[in-house]
Amino acid sequence: MLNTIKYAVFTAAILHAGLATAADYAVIHAGRLLAEPGGAVVQNRTVVIKDGVVERVADGFLDGSAIGANADDTVTVHDLKNMFVMPGFIDGHVHILSESNPRGRLQRVEMSEGDLAMAGAGFARKTLMAGFTTVRDVGAGSSDAIFALRDGIAKGDVIGPRIFASGSTISVTGGHGDGTQGYRDDVAELLHQSGVCDGVGDCRKAVREQVRRGADHIKLTATAGVLSNTAAGLEQQFFEDELKAIIDSSHAMGRKVTAHAHGVNGINAALRAGVDSIEHGTYLDNESIRLFKRNGAFLVPTLLAGETVVEWAEDPESFLLPPQRAKALQVGPIMHDMARRAHEGGVKIAFGTDTGVSKHGDNAREFALLVNAGLTPMEAIRSATIMSAENLGMSNVLGTITAGKFGDIVAVDGDPLSDITELEDIDFVMKQGIAYKAP
Ligand SMILES: [Zn+2]
Repeated sequence: MLNTIKYAVFTAAILHAGLATAADYAVIHAGRLLAEPGGAVVQNRTVVIKDGVVERVADGFLDGSAIGANADDTVTVHDLKNMFVMPGFIDGHVHILSESNPRGRLQRVEMSEGDLAMAGAGFARKTLMAGFTTVRDVGAGSSDAIFALRDGIAKGDVIGPRIFASGSTISVTGGHGDGTQGYRDDVAELLHQSGVCDGVGDCRKAVREQVRRGADHIKLTATAGVLSNTAAGLEQQFFEDELKAIIDSSHAMGRKVTAHAHGVNGINAALRAGVDSIEHGTYLDNESIRLFKRNGAFLVPTLLAGETVVEWAEDPESFLLPPQRAKALQVGPIMHDMARRAHEGGVKIAFGTDTGVSKHGDNAREFALLVNAGLTPMEAIRSATIMSAENLGMSNVLGTITAGKFGDIVAVDGDPLSDITELEDIDFVMKQGIAYKAP
């Protein structure tokens, strides 16, 4: 018995020593490389990734022996000489555990935490294969599964994008983030959602509870929303003192805060209270633009969500309830103009789709919508990389292909700068040095 234990310890020590010295190299031969979106596209470069992190970008095509690897290192070379190579995309607004469907309200009381985690694993794989190597999940109902999925992916047990999770949305009782609305009282009580709060003390506690559960950031619903089953319009729901309480207690615990907001009073109140970003932003005005710039706050326009709900509302067979249909037809058509005004006004735009409303894996449809709203293809790519990384507070490791950042890399065979819809068909996906999709 004693011998067995000694042997096990000895083996572990050998393995550990082995891991410490042998490196995993991924070498990419990039025909066209956009290492820093907004900068130049360069030709014929080698990207050297060591143990998941970009080590350097070199001129020409270096082979395995020229990168400085040792004999016991593993070197994998990816030939992307005919491809356009970019940093992996970041979707700043997804709901990765679910996807809208006619049975959604029933599934809320049918699906277990395990069911949600499994569904999320499937959606996560689709998201990664579409070129999105990082996502920010902004509201997972009352489920813990989002944290399990995030951690499972980080450990390598599940294939998917790196996830930053908010946990439950912070919402007023009966508000847009209160998922219990419309159910009978006893069912609503069973569905209890931890982020629902009213008043300053309650709202501070709701934030701290998300942090305790493992939230990376905080999401609040400053106004009503399109898909909530209440005819409460689209205006402000939290009062100013509550917004301030949520935002200040999040910042005190080192969490950024993003606010779902359609109505202009809710947008401006959240910005005045110091929110870091606004999701949707439908009715933003010149005062909003001034506040965005004063705070350095980001707008995440989610044009794909607007597009999707209009498609549903125009379908006579659609499962939308009457208040949802009315709000969809009101909001969808004006979102493009909103993004155009914000962009022209100099507001920082970060890419986000509200996927989960639209289908997982279709995230890249947002690129063409941003270009329709006046961004250049380069600006649209920048919004999904450098700007999104900054919005997450992760610019130190995400957003560009430069030394010290994660080896998150995607490629297409066409030229996305002349046809942005090329990005809807990604040919190569690498996350942290591991290729998940290759031509
Ligand atoms: Zn959303």
